[in-house]
Amino acid sequence: MRKPMMAANWKMNLIPAEATLLAQAIRAAVAEVSSVDSVLCPPYLALANVHHTVQGSTIAVGAQNVHWAESGAYTGEISVPMLKGLAEYVIIGHSERRQYFAETDETVNKKLHAVLNHGLFPIVCVGETLAQNDAGDTHAVVSAQVKAALAGVEGSRLAQVVIAYEPIWAIGTGRAATAAQAQATCGKTVRGTLAELYGDEIAQSVRVLYGGSTNAKNIGEIMQQPDIDGALIGGASLKADEYSSMVQTTAALYKANASTR
Ligand code: PEP
Repeated sequence: MRKPMMAANWKMNLIPAEATLLAQAIRAAVAEVSSVDSVLCPPYLALANVHHTVQGSTIAVGAQNVHWAESGAYTGEISVPMLKGLAEYVIIGHSERRQYFAETDETVNKKLHAVLNHGLFPIVCVGETLAQNDAGDTHAVVSAQVKAALAGVEGSRLAQVVIAYEPIWAIGTGRAATAAQAQATCGKTVRGTLAELYGDEIAQSVRVLYGGSTNAKNIGEIMQQPDIDGALIGGASLKADEYSSMVQTTAALYKANASTR
């Protein structure tokens, strides 16, 4: 059984002192929940604060982006070696980066290799636009993104990789995909593409998250889908109570599932 994950993307919100307070509140509420991997992804400036706040708990820290080079003349960028010791996970290819900061499948792939080579865990985001969804192109678009992101990555590395399916039309809009839609793309498309690339056994071992307007109300139905192993959570993760409730719901479902096996 794959261990569930609730990854909190705080985006460009919270000064370090605010991020510390939020991390403290989340730690107080979910630090005992060891059956779910909670990953808090604050802005870079707050990484050290959040790292210190959750140290010694079950909660992990992630960065929201990274550069692929080790160091050099890349003004304003952060490299993977700079994240080491502060973050275990790195979000790569979030649609907001693809949309506003010229992230491409090629840069996603370079970043993925850099993160894997340094032993961190990438959370690779894929997802279609509303127009692509309306045109019935979701499968083709998302499958192509998965293939491009993983180009040149050996199967032995897949245990480190998390994939987040995030339909762009669902991010921050309050209009989540239905559980059935999310399951179809996470299962047939993302896991199906992984199986095509690496075989069934590896495909079944990779954690696939859904992201897009998840909250305390809809997380239960989403987490009951067989191919969804967690969520990448934006807005709702900025509220300690709501995020913690999502972690608790997920833990309860995981426990119930485990006991029926
Ligand atoms: C996200 O930031 O990846 C996201 C899914 O945001 P929201 O939950 O607010 O839709």
